[in-house]
Amino acid sequence: MIKADYHTHSVFSSDSNEPLRNQIESAIDKGLDCICLTDHLDYDWCEDPEGFDFMLDTDNYIDCIELLKAEYAGKIEIRTGVELGIQPQVKDDLDAFVNKYTDKLDFIIASTHLVDHMDVYYESYFEANADKSILKYLEATLDNLDTFDEFSVYGHLDYIARPAVKYGYAYDPNDYMDIYDAILKKIIDMGKGIEINTAGFKAGLSFAHPHSIVLKRYKELGGEIITVGSDAHESAHIAYDFNKVPDILANAGFKYYTVFEGQKPHFLPY
Ligand SMILES: [Zn+2]
Ligand SMILES: [Zn+2]
Repeated sequence: MIKADYHTHSVFSSDSNEPLRNQIESAIDKGLDCICLTDHLDYDWCEDPEGFDFMLDTDNYIDCIELLKAEYAGKIEIRTGVELGIQPQVKDDLDAFVNKYTDKLDFIIASTHLVDHMDVYYESYFEANADKSILKYLEATLDNLDTFDEFSVYGHLDYIARPAVKYGYAYDPNDYMDIYDAILKKIIDMGKGIEINTAGFKAGLSFAHPHSIVLKRYKELGGEIITVGSDAHESAHIAYDFNKVPDILANAGFKYYTVFEGQKPHFLPY
């Protein structure tokens, strides 16, 4: 059983209204031993139709988590994390952020949300040739790995599958294995990990991120570090479909999953 949710959002993220406390209570209700809060910070967000800026009130966020850690001691482990949106032009901001807060952070997810300063969540991102748009997303991730290396895991590697399928485009991971190989090799060489992100199921895909073909490849190439997260933006979605994760891990050849404390990985049986 997976007992730790390592990708969760709260009201500190632009796109969530859920109080931190509700996420923690939900994790306890679902029998978890540990929850890592990973609210969004995306420097230089694009023009957003919903008016979001994805900035993080970091000092306040960390202070609130510290209070909750003390309050919930003995009931559940609470970890302080962040999900950083990576883009080449924000390298200095990311470096400054990590320099300032590294001692306070247990876990850092690096994610590709924007490509060419466009939010890939929207249909306007996709060109008539959707293959090209999918490939561009993966190329951006490869570039982002050159931009920034102060992370624990790279988030939702094939997130682009979600909008692609939603807008009616075909997506087959086998069409992109060359670039997935390059991304996975680089992550492994950097000593970093990836995550299983069950929001793929929540979004109606038949797979969690990344697809089992990509996950297997990660293991074949020597990848060992693998956290598990729901990417819940509301409390009902904490540990979403975590009952499916042991089979996914076993089929890919993993005997353990990973949690982080003080940005150091620990391996747990499932
Ligand atoms: Zn994300
Ligand atoms: Zn997220």
